[in-house]
Amino acid sequence: MELFVATGNAHKLVELAPAFPSHVLKTPADAGHPLIDVEEDGKTFFENAYKKAISLHRLIGAPSIADDSGLVVRALGGEPGIFSARYGSPDGGRSKLSSGERNAYLLGKMEGADDRSCAFVCCLVLVLSEDRFFVVQETCPGELLRSPRGEGGFGYDPVVYLPALGKSVAELSVEEKNHLSHRGRAAARMCSILSSLESSP
Ligand code: IMP
Repeated sequence: MELFVATGNAHKLVELAPAFPSHVLKTPADAGHPLIDVEEDGKTFFENAYKKAISLHRLIGAPSIADDSGLVVRALGGEPGIFSARYGSPDGGRSKLSSGERNAYLLGKMEGADDRSCAFVCCLVLVLSEDRFFVVQETCPGELLRSPRGEGGFGYDPVVYLPALGKSVAELSVEEKNHLSHRGRAAARMCSILSSLESSP
């Protein structure tokens, strides 16, 4: 199936593509549309992902997919959550901190906290029509480190430790991360839904 992905970010397409081997992922630009700027003003990952996917579907009229993701930390009541990208910004998000600064800010807030549990979350929404859509939300649970480890990945990867592997997310190979990340897991589930739709439309 041809799927339009609500992103102008070629990197996200590259990350998602291996999880959808039998589908063709396209950007709005491939259909001659510039990326629509959707305000992410939802209160949940789902609300933001749905808003992006339905907006794209209304624009293009073809199966559309969008995601919203971030890191939730239990001891911080779920922060940074949907604000992961702009967490710690002094001006409410107009200017973003660098990943290193954001990780230092997060670890500062966690100083002295014993409960280090956290999880990456990814919500993926596929809209087939106004009335027909599918949602998956997956996690990659871990523990917050006390200082960053590893050079790979992006964002919060260096401060999230996966006890079962004995590595931070930034120490995983690209293949390992694709396989067990919140985004990889959500994409695999969405792929199962797509297969079931093809065998039983
Ligand atoms: P987005 O919804 O995919 O744009 O992600 C929002 C923010 O969540 C990113 O800017 C990162 O700070 C964080 N984030 C999402 N996924 C990951 C990941 O796989 N590793 C590290 N940080 C992530």
